[in-house]
Amino acid sequence: MKFLITGGCGFIGSHLAERLLADNHEVSVIDDLSTGNLENVSGIHGKKNFHLVVDTVMNEVMVSELVEESDFVFHLAAVVGVKRVMENPVDSVVINVEGTYNVLKSCARFKRKILIASTSEVYGKNERIPFGEDADIIIGSTRKKRWSYACAKAMDEFLALAYHEEKGLPVIIVRLFNTVGPRQSDRYGMVIPRFISQALSKSPLTVFGDGMQTRCFIHVADVLEALISIIGQEKAFGDVFNIGSSEEITIKDLASRIIRMTGSSSRIEFVDPGSLYKSGFEDMNRRVPDTSKIRDLIGFTTRYKTDDILRECIEGMSK
Ligand code: UDP
Repeated sequence: MKFLITGGCGFIGSHLAERLLADNHEVSVIDDLSTGNLENVSGIHGKKNFHLVVDTVMNEVMVSELVEESDFVFHLAAVVGVKRVMENPVDSVVINVEGTYNVLKSCARFKRKILIASTSEVYGKNERIPFGEDADIIIGSTRKKRWSYACAKAMDEFLALAYHEEKGLPVIIVRLFNTVGPRQSDRYGMVIPRFISQALSKSPLTVFGDGMQTRCFIHVADVLEALISIIGQEKAFGDVFNIGSSEEITIKDLASRIIRMTGSSSRIEFVDPGSLYKSGFEDMNRRVPDTSKIRDLIGFTTRYKTDDILRECIEGMSK
């Protein structure tokens, strides 16, 4: 098949591109290299079935051409990472909404199947754990700009579902929970690469708040298995699925484990995230997915435990 991956030079997109090429598919990528980079695709760049277009999904004409040439679209391009969202609030709204609109519009025009990567962030401050796909979205005030990302992604979901209902667009929405693995950059605020990089450079690990907030971390390889499998399921189209791990860990425990596993002399420093971001930051206390829906559909399970993920990331970042 011919796949188009928007954001294919990013952390998840580049792993997906490698996997699809290994399965003998043809892969085109559009990426503006804002958070993605060429190094991520250095292992596949130059291969016969790999085509790279350095451009933005805001370029409607280019998106339309690429969609027309493809059989299936993975839409992963987005302004991601809490740090980046906080520092680029305009892009966070405009690219995350209008870019997705461009891709959906072309897919509807050429009747192409599409999977959209949404995010666990859309559950916001909901405290009813675990989050099922039909749970309420509870987000904070518009003066807390962190929520612009959740809102923009929720708009993407509304739009995708509307295209499905009104125009019969075959679209699957997946909500990815904290995804980690090799090649994830420490530049955009994601906690695991950030803590590892701090531990390796013997700097303090900056735990936000009291560190009692929790997350569940899933290895990118487990996400890929789910993505590859779900697109083969007719029943998945027009629906929304969580993809995540159910192994919950506090951020403080995460920091301690990383210090232990790296043998670092770093200490933990509890910081007020408000002092790092000018304004508009708010955290969520717990984030745990209910994955029964995707488990029932494709037998989804995770192969990697948090410690396996940490070991691999530490090894990758120590090189
Ligand atoms: N976090 C932290 N220190 C950091 C970066 C993040 O304590 O230097 C915390 C953050 O407050 C959140 C968790 O780690 O509770 C995960 O943050 P990340 O930005 O990776 O993803 P999120 O789940 O917030 O989207």
